[in-house]
Order: sequence, then structure tokens, then C-alpha cells
Amino acid sequence: MEELTEKGISGRILDAMREVPRHQFFPDQAFQEKAYQDIAFRIGAGQTISHPSTVAVQTQLLDPQKGEKVLEIGTGSGYQTAVLAQFGVKLFSIERQHELFIRTRALLEEMNIRVKLFFGDGYLGQPAFAPFDKILVTAGAPFIPQALLTQLNPGGRLVIPVGEGKTQVMHVLEKSAEGEITEAQHGEFSFVPLLEDRN
Ligand code: SAH
Repeated sequence: MEELTEKGISGRILDAMREVPRHQFFPDQAFQEKAYQDIAFRIGAGQTISHPSTVAVQTQLLDPQKGEKVLEIGTGSGYQTAVLAQFGVKLFSIERQHELFIRTRALLEEMNIRVKLFFGDGYLGQPAFAPFDKILVTAGAPFIPQALLTQLNPGGRLVIPVGEGKTQVMHVLEKSAEGEITEAQHGEFSFVPLLEDRN
């Protein structure tokens, strides 16, 4: 928490993260002592739980407000999902790895985290529940999926790491009331890739 404060993470984000015990999202008890280090970690199916500093920055950029409709792409361990849930948003999340979808659904239910989870392809968004006020992509995207921009409300915001190499550049796209898109970049991060084709 001190490290995140030094990185400029605001009090409201830290308060939300303080409410979510990250070790519970580590599948293997043997490694739970690593949960409060600023590292990503294997969660199975070749995926990782994001660095806590990455979760903090993405949440801060998303700036979730009570009552907003928020879509997360890449449920993974459910840690970022649980952090978003602290803000009292109407929460939706998509995961394409069936193993993680099943396991995380059980975990979030057990923890009483209110979220509608989908097994599917995040590139397509979730048209049946669109539009969303905020969309957060938690895997590295080779490009910005048009469907996600389409499913954004006027005044809405998409936070998405873009890039195919080892690191990705955090992008924040905003849709004006008139439907115009503006884009800003917020530094380099390292994510597992946003994959096409479901397995
Ligand atoms: N928010 C997660 C991050 C997990 S890593 C956490 O805090 O644990 C990114 C996740 O995105 C992985 O679980 C991966 O399976 C998932 N993913 C990759 N491509 C996807 C796609 N096209 N649609 C939905 N999820 C995807």
C-alpha cells in the first residue's frame, strides 16, 4: 500500500484494494505469502493474476463511480473484478479460458462479489448488455477492438493495454457526448495477450 501511494495511487483506489485480500485469488496455498509483493503470478491455463500496481493504475484510470455499468475483459483470477466491485458498479466480466471461468465463478460467489460473468470472447464485448460506461481490458490487445468502442456510452471510457511485444502501452479512450473518440497513453505495462479463438 505504501508503494502504491508513492506511485501516485489515490486514497479511494487504495481503500478499495485494502478491502480485497489478494492471497485468496492465488490458486495454490503454497505461494500465498507472495500475494502482497508487486508481482504477477501463475493462476493456471497459462494465465496470470495482474501485478497489484497494474490493477491499481488500471482502476485509477478507469475511475469507476457508483452505479456505472462496467465491463471487464479477462476475469482471470477475479482479483481485479473484486476490486471493481468495491465501487458499487454494475459489473460484467468475460473470460475465454473455461477452467478459469468455472473456478473464478465459484470463488467470487463464495466471496459474495456481485458480478455477471460470461464465458466467451472479449473481442466481441457483450452486446446484449451494452452500452457500458466503462470498459477495462486486462490482457494485452494487438489492436483496439471496434466492438468495445461501439459498446461504450457517450461520456464513456475504455482502458486497454495495446501492443503485441513483451510490453504494452496503456491506452485510455474516451467517447464524447457527440460520439467522438479521443485517446491518451499512460506508460508501459506487461500483460498476457488478449487471445482470439476460444478454447
Ligand atoms: N483481471 C485478471 C487478469 C488475468 S490475465 C486478474 O486480475 O487476475 C488476463 C486474462 O484475460 C486471462 O485470464 C485470459 O484468459 C483472459 N483473456 C485472454 N484473451 C481473452 C479474450 N479474448 N476474451 C476474454 N478473456 C480473455
